Amino acid sequence: MQKNNDDSKKQIYVVMVLFTLLFLLMTGYFAYYVQFSSTDDINNTYNPRQETLALKVVRGKIISADGQTLAYTQERKSGEERIYPYGPVFAHVVGYTGKGKSGIEQMANISLLTSNAALNEKLSRQMAEEKNIGDNIVTTLDTGLQKAAYDALGLYKGAIVAMDPQTGHILCMASNPGFDPNTIAKDWDELNTMTEASPLLNRATQGLYPPGSTFKIVTLLEYMRENENCEDYAFNCKGSFTLEDVTIRCYHGSVHGQIDLKTSFAKSCNSSFANIGSTLDNGRFRKTAEALLFNKELPGKLGCRQSEFMLERSSLCEEKLHTAIGQGKTVISPLHMALITSAVANGGMLKKPLLIDRIENYDGETVKKYEASNHKRLMSEKEAAFLDEYMREVVATGTGTKLSGLSYEVAGKTGSAEFGSEKGDSHAWFTGYAGTGEQKIVVTVVIEGAGSGSDYAVPAAKRVFDAYFAEHAHG
Ligand SMILES: [Zn+2]
Repeated sequence: MQKNNDDSKKQIYVVMVLFTLLFLLMTGYFAYYVQFSSTDDINNTYNPRQETLALKVVRGKIISADGQTLAYTQERKSGEERIYPYGPVFAHVVGYTGKGKSGIEQMANISLLTSNAALNEKLSRQMAEEKNIGDNIVTTLDTGLQKAAYDALGLYKGAIVAMDPQTGHILCMASNPGFDPNTIAKDWDELNTMTEASPLLNRATQGLYPPGSTFKIVTLLEYMRENENCEDYAFNCKGSFTLEDVTIRCYHGSVHGQIDLKTSFAKSCNSSFANIGSTLDNGRFRKTAEALLFNKELPGKLGCRQSEFMLERSSLCEEKLHTAIGQGKTVISPLHMALITSAVANGGMLKKPLLIDRIENYDGETVKKYEASNHKRLMSEKEAAFLDEYMREVVATGTGTKLSGLSYEVAGKTGSAEFGSEKGDSHAWFTGYAGTGEQKIVVTVVIEGAGSGSDYAVPAAKRVFDAYFAEHAHG
């Protein structure tokens, strides 16, 4: 009897230990799951678990680099409402939610619907059957620059991108015409009928434009690569260049006379660049363009359309001459132009473009930080220094003199990209950078159908540069 009693006591003891272990394990797993539930398996936008998340978590905020709230969720009796305090100013880059998702709302959807609040708080909210509060997205965007860019576009269609070439941070990304993300559901049908204006299109990433003379940066780089003594180049511009029945004219009937390579670039002489283009090797030209990310997916997963460089080994003279001056079949997105310019400004190294600096829980604790990283060297340091010198000449004596004599120094290239059959219709381009040391900014502007780059895109870029250096004057 005694023995049996001991045995059953032992058995009860073993069962208790087992149950305690099991209980601890389950609690541990539950805590782990709540705290670290993996986002990887639910990253797909179409995963229904995202909808389930939205039922359990109040969507987090989207915040600018200077601490302003760009999007937040208001809880009302009638339900939740997403508020965008800046209305159309950040519409494309921040995006919308409700009628599908776009912009950062789409890119960071899972993070916004994930709560990394303190564990005890999350558990108590869950017990009380309340929603947890989602994480906040702190972007790289600056409200001052975004407003300056949006205002600079004014009534014109177009896009402006600004970037820090040394960190890859996108400082602003404006596209016009825009829409009000606060009323996207109500306006949806109307916005979708406006095919000409296409206000929902983010022109900075989705717009493909002929680059016009901004493409001479690429042509110049290729000419330099193919000719060690490229600076011995001389040309006599009589206003046009003809080869095999193809005639290329200088913009607005200009005649540039006897010029060297640097002046050809600074004054943006089409005849001289058609002449240069005629000497280039099509295959090598294409290789250089593709090394600069033409026909490629851009880094950063920002939803960019691929830029196109169509020149082939077998392409005819006409295509070749037009390509050299940025006309023909070549098209590029404003963001891509900003990336090429960033590489020049950063000694040839392209930083991976970043729109999100970090993810924070709603208490402001950093959950994840996106560090600056190199994407790819687009050109050698020597080549970047060469382009830098030439782009400074554009501002000193060429088509960008409206940017000379300021409190900051600018290097850049203008463009007036002709489109359509009407003579004189051109998109105004400017791409360039300013600043020294750690304070450098790249600005790329395209204004649709406005006219020349120097008259329309340069003043727009100046407004963004001015805003940047006004902000950094004291820092
Ligand atoms: Zn000329």
